[in-house]
Amino acid sequence: MISQSDAEFRKLIPLLRPHLRKLLWGALFMVIYVSCWPVLAWQAGLLIPAIGEGNLLTVIKIIFGALFVFFIQKLSQFAQDTLLADPALRISQDLRIKVFKKLQKIQLGAIEKLSTGDITYRLTEDADRVGEVIYKTIQDTTPSILQLVAVFIYMVFIDWQLSIATLLLAPLVTILVSQFGARVMFAAERSQKQVSELAALLGEAIQGLPIIRAFAAEEWLQNRFDNEVELHRRARYKTLKLLALQHPVVGFIEATGILAVLVIGAARIQSGGLDGQGFSSYVAALLMLIDPISHLTTNFNELKQGQASLSRLRSIQLEPEEAKDILTPINLNDAKGEISLRDVCFSYDNKINVLNNININIKKGQVVALVGPSGSGKSTLLSLLLRFIRPKSGEIFFDGYEVSQIKSKELRQQIALVPQRTNLFSGSISDVIKFGRTASKDQVINASRIANAHDFIMSMPDGYQSQVEEGGTNLSGGQLQRIAIARAVLGNPSVLLLDEATSALDADSEAAVQLALSQAMKDRTVLVIAHRLSTVQEADQIIVIDNGSISDCGTHDELITREGRYKELCQKQFIRNSKSE
Ligand code: ADP
Repeated sequence: MISQSDAEFRKLIPLLRPHLRKLLWGALFMVIYVSCWPVLAWQAGLLIPAIGEGNLLTVIKIIFGALFVFFIQKLSQFAQDTLLADPALRISQDLRIKVFKKLQKIQLGAIEKLSTGDITYRLTEDADRVGEVIYKTIQDTTPSILQLVAVFIYMVFIDWQLSIATLLLAPLVTILVSQFGARVMFAAERSQKQVSELAALLGEAIQGLPIIRAFAAEEWLQNRFDNEVELHRRARYKTLKLLALQHPVVGFIEATGILAVLVIGAARIQSGGLDGQGFSSYVAALLMLIDPISHLTTNFNELKQGQASLSRLRSIQLEPEEAKDILTPINLNDAKGEISLRDVCFSYDNKINVLNNININIKKGQVVALVGPSGSGKSTLLSLLLRFIRPKSGEIFFDGYEVSQIKSKELRQQIALVPQRTNLFSGSISDVIKFGRTASKDQVINASRIANAHDFIMSMPDGYQSQVEEGGTNLSGGQLQRIAIARAVLGNPSVLLLDEATSALDADSEAAVQLALSQAMKDRTVLVIAHRLSTVQEADQIIVIDNGSISDCGTHDELITREGRYKELCQKQFIRNSKSE
């Protein structure tokens, strides 16, 4: 949980700076709008005795005057609202962009701990709510406060004694409002947490629908969902009940206050301290306080709800970031693709080491296979090379430079990853392969040819402009992998990191992917988490990782003759594979 002070909207004030011009213009119109209220109260004071006297001409004159003031006031309100809406929306947009930017920098380990649904909720619903509060604060709360001040000053001008009596009633309302505000804030926070849990469950449910059906677990999921929905309803109902109670109570206090002022006013007239016209203006002004007070009450509640949203948004800001580049990082020229690790240790939680004293030397153009049981630390090793994470101790070198000395962007241009599960963004095949990089059509075709993907892409109705659906659902597993290989080789990296897919492909697809890989691996250093026997056998070096340490190292022929983990693994895994090959 974040402390209350962190959630304060005041911290957003610096975001207002770029919009100062528009805000100042808006403020000018706001002042005109607010100044019209005391004038209208004064006109009301003139009007009531004139009506009483039956003086039609005076009444018409006053009404035309009031119409004119109303016209100016509403025009200013329009100008104020439109001028202020833009900066308010931009601030919430800036905030959303800032949080998304942060999301791109958060350590991958920390992101994995957050649920997709929850983050999505924060960046959509919470950001909207914060935007709404910013808008309301600028465009409604501020003029309401100004209106209260302006009208009250006018009331003091009419009769200060009566104004003091009125003022004594105000703290009562204020205390009540803030009491409720705190409760509403607490209830709102709980209700938002519930929605975000609902979103998290939805995210899981949608991703897991096939597995849910496969296990016939629909009823279990439905029950969980029903339960979450019920908890959400209860939390929301509590908030609504508090809100429902707040309006009548505050309204009653207000009405009592006004009636009390009327009694005191009558006494003031009787004692000769105030005349009828002054009292009429005073009552008109008093009535003009009700609207802004009620706006402030509503906005205060929304502010409290918005604070909960803001604190949830800002908590993303506190997640740990990836290590930053040093000030003058080295630029790689003509990278060779040599990698070495010296005494590298790593732990995710600073307690138990996931990798222990890893020493590896990979020369240019070598193919190195990492083998070892699941959970032994192979993927962690790839993450270290890509600088997603930093070693706890020891050093990692790329072409002789310590990787933290190299610009992370440049390092990642040299080291391309072909992940086990291909994550493709939706878009045209050409855009999917480019993945935000600038590349000519020929370069895209060339990468696709290396990845043995050109022919199948050309056989699609729109060729390279054919659309890949979200998650690549309109492509086969083998096609997805070949596109991922094309995406990896497009930037002509000197190192390929392959996390071989374990899911079985049919023989044709397997052969097509193998051809793609062998073409992609040509003249490159390759580090592969190997599951296929062929990859392992052909590797220049096989590194056997067991429980975070290198237990053996050598070629297939060397290792197979030794009694050890590799031979065991071969017997367990690869013999099965070799039978099916
Ligand atoms: P492999 O790729 O060999 O299956 P990993 O490198 O994925 O192994 O995992 C090595 C160990 O680190 C495992 O015990 C795993 O549970 C742990 N681990 C992996 N990723 C994280 C993470 N983000 N946070 C904490 N522990 C992790």
